[in-house]
Amino acid sequence: MTRFNTSTVSAAEIEALTRQITGPVLAPGDDRYDAERAGFQTARRHRPDLVVGATGPADVRAAVTYAGSRGLAVAVQATGHASAAVAAEGGVLITTSRMSAVRMDAETRTAWVAAGTRWDQVIREAQPAGLAPLSGSAPHLGAVSYTLGGGLALLSRGYGYAADHVRRLEVVTADGRLRHVAHDSEPDLFWALRGGRDNFGVVTAMEIELFPVTTLYGGALVFPAGKAAEVFGAYLRWAATMPETMNSSVALISLPDVPAIPEPLRGRHTVHVRIACATGDPETGERLVAPLRAIGAISDTVGELAYAEAGSIYNDPVVPGAFEADTAMLGELDAAAVRAVLDLAGPHEPVPHIVELRHLGGRLAHPPAVDNAVGNRDARYLFNVVSRLERADLAEIRPAHARVIEAVAPWSTGGRFLNFMNGANGAARVPSAYDAAAYRRLTGIKAIYDPENIFRSNHNIPPVEGRTGSR
Ligand SMILES: Cc1cc2nc3c(=O)[nH]c(=O)nc-3n(C[C@H](O)[C@H](O)[C@H](O)COP(=O)(O)OP(=O)(O)OC[C@H]3O[C@@H](n4cnc5c(N)ncnc54)[C@H](O)[C@@H]3O)c2cc1C
Repeated sequence: MTRFNTSTVSAAEIEALTRQITGPVLAPGDDRYDAERAGFQTARRHRPDLVVGATGPADVRAAVTYAGSRGLAVAVQATGHASAAVAAEGGVLITTSRMSAVRMDAETRTAWVAAGTRWDQVIREAQPAGLAPLSGSAPHLGAVSYTLGGGLALLSRGYGYAADHVRRLEVVTADGRLRHVAHDSEPDLFWALRGGRDNFGVVTAMEIELFPVTTLYGGALVFPAGKAAEVFGAYLRWAATMPETMNSSVALISLPDVPAIPEPLRGRHTVHVRIACATGDPETGERLVAPLRAIGAISDTVGELAYAEAGSIYNDPVVPGAFEADTAMLGELDAAAVRAVLDLAGPHEPVPHIVELRHLGGRLAHPPAVDNAVGNRDARYLFNVVSRLERADLAEIRPAHARVIEAVAPWSTGGRFLNFMNGANGAARVPSAYDAAAYRRLTGIKAIYDPENIFRSNHNIPPVEGRTGSR
């Protein structure tokens, strides 16, 4: 049990709030406090004055109203995959895991998704109707937070960002009001939330579009690290010729020496090419992947795959852990870019990190039918560097990541993707997630909907000075 000073909130206030809220209201020292604030990312945990386990919009309204009246910051957590990004110190943390529900409408190809729902639940509900959401590499992520942060999906090159396909949002703003926002109702707030994530309120539900996808041609080709230069070079030439239906990434991964990893790969430094091809036709997929197969993989799981099994493509960890990451958005890449990355990420490096390039472009490069705040649509690759803290020290990892990010700087667009911003990306980097004019507009909308900046335990967009107001 954690005990730390919580003089900000009195016992009487906790009691009063408990009477208004159906879910638990927990302070440090309470037996259930640690479990309620725990998330997937264990490196930096939220340490709020109060955790409110919301069961629905009414609980969220009560918690936000209370925090607003006391000038306390409000943070939100669904699954805690991004809690290392900015961990709340004090204030009120609203957890949404009890708000997990999906309402499907197969006819309009839409789903109404509550705040704490994970993608795997949406996929389970949508697949019997032959439909799929724009979920990402890991099906256990929170659907709402992922979408509000942009949402780079397995099939995004063909469809765009998940945020591009939100129809309506239900949100509790800083004044405690539950608002129904859409293109024709509070359009500024609707624009800002889709990309501005947790800066404008607590979204209690979203209505999203679904797509007719049941199978993919997908999986991973794994090569020995000795072939890294050849694979990265061939991958870049190959990716440049691919249609929008082909989604892929390449990553250098040092696999741990543990029984969960199959024998030919266990403990080896490897290169993974991940494939998610949306043709629904294995012959086309096979033809498109053939040039990469010709390099000679030591493991090849690429084949016809049910969308419900698409989490196996990246095989992202499901067990909570501690990690550090950094990110950059890149333009077109050449052989010099590959050399720059491999020089710093090979088996000889003391910090075992994953470096990854996700192929962008296609529909991601186009503005959506209803414009939103998601920026950096000119980028061609998303670059990530990730290290598990169990396998190296933070004091070693931070400078190692900084060196890798610096090495790709000549190819950087200067942008970053909000969903992959981590602790190392301080508040000063938030504007890089947006185009300059969009960032200015966001600060103006913030001044209207959250003038006191109660939603500040996040990658914060501060309200523009001198322009506050209420709606
Ligand atoms: C293994 C792994 C794989 C990933 N793969 C992808 C990927 O393929 N594509 C991609 O785009 N991203 C990916 N991400 C990043 C991921 O989308 C973000 O970390 C996302 O924010 C996680 O959402 P969560 O609900 O799971 O986490 P949480 O930590 O619970 O929430 C994340 C953020 O969203 C905010 N938030 C949560 N709920 C709400 C709400 N109801 N209203 C407003 N704000 C809210 C929180 O304030 C928090 O800052 C991945 C991350 C991990 C760790």
